[in-house]
Amino acid sequence: MEQLERLIRPHIRQLKPYSSARDEYTGQVGVFLDANENPLGSVGGGHYERYPDPHQRPIKARLAELKGVREAQIFLGNGSDEAIDLLYRVFCDPAQDHVLLNPPTYGMYKVSAEINGIRYQEILLNEAYQLDLPTLLPALRQAPKLTFLCSPNNPTANLLHRDDVRAVLEQQQGIVVVDEAYIDFAPEGSWLFELDHYPHLVVLQTFSKAWGMAGLRLGMAFGHPTVIAAMNRIKPPYNVNQLTQEVVLKALDHPEQREEMVREILTQRKQLALALQAMSEVEQVFPSDANFLLIKVPDPNGWYEQLIQRQLIVRNRSTVQRCDGCLRITVGTAAENAQLLTALQQLSPNPAL
Ligand SMILES: *Cc1c(COP(=O)(O)O)cnc(C)c1O
Repeated sequence: MEQLERLIRPHIRQLKPYSSARDEYTGQVGVFLDANENPLGSVGGGHYERYPDPHQRPIKARLAELKGVREAQIFLGNGSDEAIDLLYRVFCDPAQDHVLLNPPTYGMYKVSAEINGIRYQEILLNEAYQLDLPTLLPALRQAPKLTFLCSPNNPTANLLHRDDVRAVLEQQQGIVVVDEAYIDFAPEGSWLFELDHYPHLVVLQTFSKAWGMAGLRLGMAFGHPTVIAAMNRIKPPYNVNQLTQEVVLKALDHPEQREEMVREILTQRKQLALALQAMSEVEQVFPSDANFLLIKVPDPNGWYEQLIQRQLIVRNRSTVQRCDGCLRITVGTAAENAQLLTALQQLSPNPAL
């Protein structure tokens, strides 16, 4: 795809990637004397003495089935955060390129821009936490290399309107990244099914949320094979470790377990939202399409501190633009949510009132 190729930084286009031992011989059986591994085993038990598959082929084969995409459309990284960083490094030149962000949103887009020395333009979401199209669409004419859209959005918990995302996809020449970390909790479908329609669309998903595997670090990027190939060319060869690959491969045989957990979390979300809404001190519980709730309270810092004292940790988002007074609360187990609600009922009244 020539138009996509031209978006890629010239030196990345021409890069001859590191070729690992496991690239040059891909057979499964043999006497492996090619990678300077320890043939005797692993200290601490288990069998981790061999380097992992740099292309994670078995996982991609299962994912392709599960997601209805081709293997060449899948990148796997050490968390989605690695995919975000690699997208910057594939497409953005520090001296000349810029990206568009729509805060309040996931902090890593900005941090990654800063780490990579890339300028970013921030266009605040509107009061309804939706894309500000009247400002955003004209900004697309400045040819941002990447536009990050997070849907459902963190920390605001809502899906972005589908028509708004489509408007960006229709106008944008560069890459549109739709981060779907929370899509399993949302009532509406993924943008994955539009990949063939929009070659410049990249969809991010993760095993960290609905799959319950944040500790294993596995993120997915889905996109056009040209984009995916470029990400694979520059990634560290063994970016997804053996243990993660083994456990995730097993997990992929049990998508019904994920669905069951999602159902339970949605039940808990509904109950928690109702209970919070019923509290007179809570000004607002924002609608959620994710596994967390954003609430607005008169004294967010006081609440946050008092909850910490009870070893209840929520996320204080009250200094974030458009999130005045807001706390972000992850939906916990029934027992955890009950504990939170009990604690909130006991909080000392806001001295400012
Ligand atoms: C949690 C989260 C991720 C997941 O990142 P990983 O590195 O895969 O754990 C990605 N995007 C958003 C918006 C998130 O909130």
